Amino acid sequence: MKKWLIKRKSGLFCEPGNFYIDPIRPVEKALITHAHTDHARPNNKKILATKETIDIMKIRYQENYCKTKQKISYGESINMSGVKVKFIPAGHILGSAQILLEYKGETVVISGDYKRKRDKTCLPFEVNNCNTFITEATFALPVFTHPNDKLEAKKIIDSINNNSAQTHLIGVYALGKCQRLICLLRDLGFNKTIYLHGALIKISEYYVSEEIKLGAIKNASELKDFNGGELILCPPSALHDRWSQKFKDTVKGFVSGWMTIKQRIKQKNINLPIVISDHADWKELTDTIKEVSPEKVLVTHGRDEALLSFLNKKGYKCESLNLLGFEDEDD
Ligand SMILES: [Zn+2]
Repeated sequence: MKKWLIKRKSGLFCEPGNFYIDPIRPVEKALITHAHTDHARPNNKKILATKETIDIMKIRYQENYCKTKQKISYGESINMSGVKVKFIPAGHILGSAQILLEYKGETVVISGDYKRKRDKTCLPFEVNNCNTFITEATFALPVFTHPNDKLEAKKIIDSINNNSAQTHLIGVYALGKCQRLICLLRDLGFNKTIYLHGALIKISEYYVSEEIKLGAIKNASELKDFNGGELILCPPSALHDRWSQKFKDTVKGFVSGWMTIKQRIKQKNINLPIVISDHADWKELTDTIKEVSPEKVLVTHGRDEALLSFLNKKGYKCESLNLLGFEDEDD
């Protein structure tokens, strides 16, 4: 770990710049990689983030979640007490960024969450060479190979065609996964109205306002008659709660990178598991590290052992950073 970038209880801290990155407790100054709730928490005094991250935080936390908000564009450089700060697209969700820090000629890239698969709802991950690369490790095991996302999305359309009398209730995370799935379905020619649980509406409308075309979407509360064949997206937690009980004859799906694991499919009582993830799989992680070509790799939030052992064999200096407080809101 570079001496000027240290791990503290509140998170990763840049000493000369006097700021934290994605702190887990309220701090004076925070740089936020993206708006998922495990990275973007309320009540910091000042935040620096992309316009989209700031807008989405406002939607989620209402107006007073922090005192001062500063927007930074992708590629723009800001000097913070001698530390050069740059936000670079991470390909994870709308507005997501890697953060590049440069201090006294040394560069560190903090990846945040990222993926390499093309996703129409956000800018693609950009490779930036650096001395130290801090990578996430959510799916850092060789068994994780995310399948083709279009073929996975097509399973939903096929199921609707084959079970036209049933209502399809599909669990998706509200920020990112929901909108990416809708885009994939539209690209596959699915033109019918897609109904959304109330908890998915505001963020989806925000994506539309940012010119991400989602086609006809409506609040599921507007759905009065069930003719069968309706597609309703909801947060995963709503799949088995009281809300979902009003839909009688249903196929229940869940869109997540974890849907390769049979135990989780069974646990969550899912008939239609769809494997689409907004995180890099094993190959994406290892290819990305090769491309970024850092001298040192720090591995955090996720499974670090397999990746560390792989990197050691390849001759990289590497260690576990083990930042706490990052769950998989967004798998
Ligand atoms: Zn995330």
